[in-house]
Amino acid sequence: MVGVAWLLASAAAAQDMPRVRHTIQALTAPAMYGRGYVQQGEHKAATYLRKRFQQLGLQPLAPNYTPPFTLDVNTFPGVLEVRARSNCLFGGSRRFQPGIDFIAEPNSGGGRVVGRRIPFDTLVFTNAAARRQWLATDLRGRIVTIPSRQLARLQAPTFTDDSLRASLEAAAVRLALVPQKLTASLSAEQVPQIRLQLLADRWHELLPLLDVHVEASLKQQYQTQNVVGYILGRVQPDSFLVVTAHYDHLGQMGRQVYFPGANDNASGTAMLLELAAHYARPENRPAYSIVFIGFGAEEAGLVGSRYFVEHPLVPLRRIRFLLNLDLLGTGSEGATVVNGREFPAQFQVLQRLNEAQRAIPNLAARGRAANSDHFPFSESGVPAFFLYTRGGITAYHDVHDRAETLPLTAFSTLFDLLRTFLDALQLPRK
Ligand SMILES: [Zn+2]
Repeated sequence: MVGVAWLLASAAAAQDMPRVRHTIQALTAPAMYGRGYVQQGEHKAATYLRKRFQQLGLQPLAPNYTPPFTLDVNTFPGVLEVRARSNCLFGGSRRFQPGIDFIAEPNSGGGRVVGRRIPFDTLVFTNAAARRQWLATDLRGRIVTIPSRQLARLQAPTFTDDSLRASLEAAAVRLALVPQKLTASLSAEQVPQIRLQLLADRWHELLPLLDVHVEASLKQQYQTQNVVGYILGRVQPDSFLVVTAHYDHLGQMGRQVYFPGANDNASGTAMLLELAAHYARPENRPAYSIVFIGFGAEEAGLVGSRYFVEHPLVPLRRIRFLLNLDLLGTGSEGATVVNGREFPAQFQVLQRLNEAQRAIPNLAARGRAANSDHFPFSESGVPAFFLYTRGGITAYHDVHDRAETLPLTAFSTLFDLLRTFLDALQLPRK
């Protein structure tokens, strides 16, 4: 049964879902190239965000709202091909699709290698003769395929057989066969070896001849930016609440494929813009100043938020609370609050508001985690939550994280919850 409080909460959901959809559509569009480091996708996304800040009348906290910083990042801007064929003239062949069938590992090198694949011998772990024979094989210039589970075993810190590890390093191509899903990431480094992940069920044993061609480009001192605006507080302007969401994502991989990053994190960026739109209205002007930060280079290892903490644009000790929004596109199973256990008083406020509003079915507190941009702040003594929604979709760091399939289940009610939470963190209103 639907209670009265639920109806009231629904009726009060004031923010504009068509506008939210539009924001997510814009950030995930092909013109943004996945908001990464190929075709200046991250610049295009930052320009979009800056224009929205301007339209809302937020004050810039840096020239043009966009304090720059640099990072090193490995990219795949060109050819990305894996083909397999049989060794008989009339056998079949297959061209694997980048993004769908395979991806480059973050630190992969580039090059072209053609040849018969060498399957990793899984007996090396248990059989001394197999191990000897494997170590005697010259893998230089060769393509080795290895189940990702065996690769993880070799790479585990507790695994001490360095010669086995080194043997695999000698191969020209390491093709890991991954069971369920491909998960992309970014790296600041590039290794000489070509490293790919291929979905195991797309693999074809009967096509042992491989042609692998990868163009990799390590961009050094690449200039990107955060996007920072604020609304001046009405009562105590030198106290700050900070709302953050990273706008960057994994970018493009190869010539055709890009990672849209609808849930990660067009959704959080859209929520940040909705909260900014709310507090920008004269009748909603906050008691404390509220800073809105779109972080760059989160996916490259929290680079933008670490930079901000090292070069703060407001004194960190004046930040009363920071709310980081990342992965807000679902919610059928509720939401998790990282640091909820570190700051129980604030979590209780959020919990009570959620109970009153019935915004989301379940609000779970967890401890510290270095999994998004709140982390550099809370490690520097700034009280901070990172809130993400759960349920609905499994797309994550892959080409399937698309706007069209993002349910936005709890977005509207979550907006009200976060707005009332931010209100509750301020002085009593006059
Ligand atoms: Zn991510």
